[in-house]
Amino acid sequence: MTARNIDGNALAAKVREEIAQRAAELTARGVQPCLAVILVGEDPASAVYVRNKVSACEKAGFRSLKFTYAPDVDPQEVFDRIAELNADDTVHGILVQLPLPKQFDADKVLEAISPEKDVDGFHAENFGLLLQGRKSFYPCTPWGVMKMLDSENVELKGAEAVVIGRSNIVGKPMAVMLLSRGATVTVCHSQTKDLAFHTKRADIVVAAVGRAKFLKGDMIKPGAVVIDVGINRGEDGKLCGDVDFDSAREVASLITPVPGGVGPMTITMLLANTVESAQRVLDAK
Ligand code: NDP
Repeated sequence: MTARNIDGNALAAKVREEIAQRAAELTARGVQPCLAVILVGEDPASAVYVRNKVSACEKAGFRSLKFTYAPDVDPQEVFDRIAELNADDTVHGILVQLPLPKQFDADKVLEAISPEKDVDGFHAENFGLLLQGRKSFYPCTPWGVMKMLDSENVELKGAEAVVIGRSNIVGKPMAVMLLSRGATVTVCHSQTKDLAFHTKRADIVVAAVGRAKFLKGDMIKPGAVVIDVGINRGEDGKLCGDVDFDSAREVASLITPVPGGVGPMTITMLLANTVESAQRVLDAK
């Protein structure tokens, strides 16, 4: 069997078109969606992510604001900026690009963002709401994965799903989302004793490990759906995922490529959260 690719670029383009339409309607009614992005330091990957987010906002007809700070900035300056943006009615989403330099307590920074503007879905309040199955801003990467699974009508009810990785931004919320849709979920991590035992029985495997080509074809159940969240540089210097694509596609039925898989969906769901936040502001008027 050779797996079919789930095309993240095509799905992202479709969803972004719908978002742009919603943004135009909101703007016509006096509420132009606006995302504020805060970048601290000079990490080149972070700078690229921020540039892509700002550009995606502009293409969707949003207003975007960008605030950059030197790596040695006093954290108070950033807290002051967040407070100002929290109070600004014309700003609907606030995002602080991670990772932050050492002098910052990232949890405290994320908690400083108003939960109503937490379009990354990282605030403890939003995470708590997600756990309870209540309406919240969902973290963008796992939500994008859910959209990809739904776009292919992957049956989640009763499916054996294995998530590799338990980070707060990907693995944990991914597991909760799959669970809430009726999958039987196993979460694996660096302490898991026999990883392949788990992955080999999974109908759906989500790899969010941060290790290049970690999940090989012989660790996958024939016909499984394989979602690759990883973004790594391989030994050849090329971008690659956490899944060994060449061996995995010989076993899986559906697979997401890297690049062009989960990545484009992450920014798309950030736009979706921001437009939703703007909608809530309009509805409350
Ligand atoms: P983290 O480093 O925060 O988490 C990695 C997880 O993988 C941890 O839970 C860790 O376990 C687990 N892990 C590490 N080594 C092993 C191993 N040998 N066996 C089993 N589990 C292991 O990463 P993130 O969750 O932030 O990101 C994961 C990947 O996704 C990265 O490649 C990142 O670049 C990418 N990413 C992609 C996004 C996108 O838009 N496509 C967005 C966000 C991230 P433990 O907890 O025990 O340490």
